[in-house]
Amino acid sequence: MKEEIQVAVVGAGPAGCTAAEVASYRGAEVALIERKSEIGSPVQCGGFLPEAHELQALMPRARLPQTLQDIPERCILHRTHLQRIYSPSGESKEFPVAGRVVDRRAFDRFLAHRAARAGARVLPATRASWTDGVLQLSGRFSGFLRPQIVIGADGPLSIISRSMGNPSGERGICLEYEMADIDIDPDAAEMYFSADYAPGGYAWIIPLGEDLANVGVGVRASYLASQKLPDLLDRFVQEHPVAGKMLRGGEVMAVMRGLVPASGSAGSVQKDNLLLAGDAAGHVMATSGGGIPLAMVAGRIAGEVAAAYLKGELALREYQSRIREEFGKELDRSVQIRKMVDMAMKSDRLMNALFAALSPDQMKSVMRAQIPAALGIAREPKDDSDREGIALQKTRRNKT
Ligand SMILES: Cc1cc2nc3c(=O)[nH]c(=O)nc-3n(C[C@H](O)[C@H](O)[C@H](O)COP(=O)(O)OP(=O)(O)OC[C@H]3O[C@@H](n4cnc5c(N)ncnc54)[C@H](O)[C@@H]3O)c2cc1C
Repeated sequence: MKEEIQVAVVGAGPAGCTAAEVASYRGAEVALIERKSEIGSPVQCGGFLPEAHELQALMPRARLPQTLQDIPERCILHRTHLQRIYSPSGESKEFPVAGRVVDRRAFDRFLAHRAARAGARVLPATRASWTDGVLQLSGRFSGFLRPQIVIGADGPLSIISRSMGNPSGERGICLEYEMADIDIDPDAAEMYFSADYAPGGYAWIIPLGEDLANVGVGVRASYLASQKLPDLLDRFVQEHPVAGKMLRGGEVMAVMRGLVPASGSAGSVQKDNLLLAGDAAGHVMATSGGGIPLAMVAGRIAGEVAAAYLKGELALREYQSRIREEFGKELDRSVQIRKMVDMAMKSDRLMNALFAALSPDQMKSVMRAQIPAALGIAREPKDDSDREGIALQKTRRNKT
C-alpha cells in the first residue's frame, strides 16, 4: 500500500466506517484501519438504537445517514416499544420509544462492507499510532502512511484525540452480561437509577428476545469508591427488588466491558489535518450513554468535509461548525442535564423526589435533552430573537 494516501480513518466502528464510506463515495482515496482482527468483535455495546423518527426528534437538525435509517433486518435482533425508568424506590414511569436492538458484530461488519464497496481500503488486525504527521501501522499491515487527512474514530481512548492535546474527559465504566432464561418484559428497554446498585450512573435491561437480554451497569469511577463493578452487577442481578425477580436464576452467556465518554464534546474536534468523530470526540448523549447515532452522524460529516477539502471546496475547520449545527446543542444540553441529575444522584432521596416531579412525557424530553427548564436549568435570552431563551425564562417564571 502506498504511503501517500488522501484519508486515513483510524477505527472501524460506526463512526469510522461511516466516515470511510462517505469520503470514498465522494471520490477520496481512503484507508480504514482497525486493530481488531474481526471488525465488530468482541462486542462492547448494548446495541439499543431508537428508530429513525425517534432519532430525528432527538437531533432535529441532523442529517441521518441512510445506514442509520434503513438497517438490514439481519442486523436487528429485536424491537422494543417502550422505555421504562425505575427510581431508587422502585417506582417506574414509562413512555413510548420505538427501539431497535442491533447485533453490533453484524452491524459494524455491514458498515465496513459498505465502506469497502464505496472504495475504501479496509485494514483489519492493524494498529495505528500517530507521531509527527506520520501514521505508523503494525500488525497485519505494517509500515507508514502520510495521509493528507486523519479521521480519528478510534473510540473512547483515542490516540488521535490525545495527540491533539484534548484532556481525557470523565468516562463511564460499564460491565454488561448477555443473559438467557430470564423473565423480562421483551417490549421495554429499562433503566434503573439507584446509588446502591449504580452510583453515578444507571443499570439497564435491553431485551434481545423473549427471555434474552443485555443486562448492564454503567457508573462513573468517581462515584464507585471501593466497590467493584462485577460485584455491583451481580448484586443488581441477584438482589435488586424489581430486576432481581426477573434476572435471578438466569444464565450469563457473555460478559462485555467498556468505557463511555461522559463529558460531552472534546475541546477540539479538528486541529490541523486531524478530525475526531464518535466516542473519540466525546459524541455520546450524556443523558443515556447512547453513542451510535451521534457517531454515525459525525462520521458522515467528517467524510463529507474531508472529501470537500480534498477538492478545494472547504476548509477543514468547517468540520467543528457543521457538527455544532447538526447536534452540538443537543449534546451540550445532555451534559447540562447530566450535571443537574448528578446532584440528585448523590442521594436516593433526592433522586426519588426528582423522579416524582417529572411526568412520563417530561422524562422522555429529559432523555432527549429537550427540557432543561424542567430541571431548573434556564438561561437568559441572548436577544429578542432568541425564542428558546425567552421560552426557558418564561417557564422558569411560571414555576416560581
Ligand atoms: C457496555 C456498553 C454498552 C453500550 N450500549 C450502547 C447502546 O445500547 N446504544 C448506544 O447507542 N450506545 C451504546 N454504547 C456506546 C457505543 O458503543 C459507542 O458510543 C459507539 O460504539 C461509538 O462508535 P465509534 O465508532 O465512535 O467507536 P467504537 O465503536 O468504539 O469504535 C472504535 C474502533 O477503533 C478501534 N481502535 C481504537 N484504537 C485503535 C488504533 N490505535 N488503531 C486501530 N484501531 C483502533 C477499536 O478497536 C474500535 O473498533 C455502549 C457502550 C458500552 C461500553
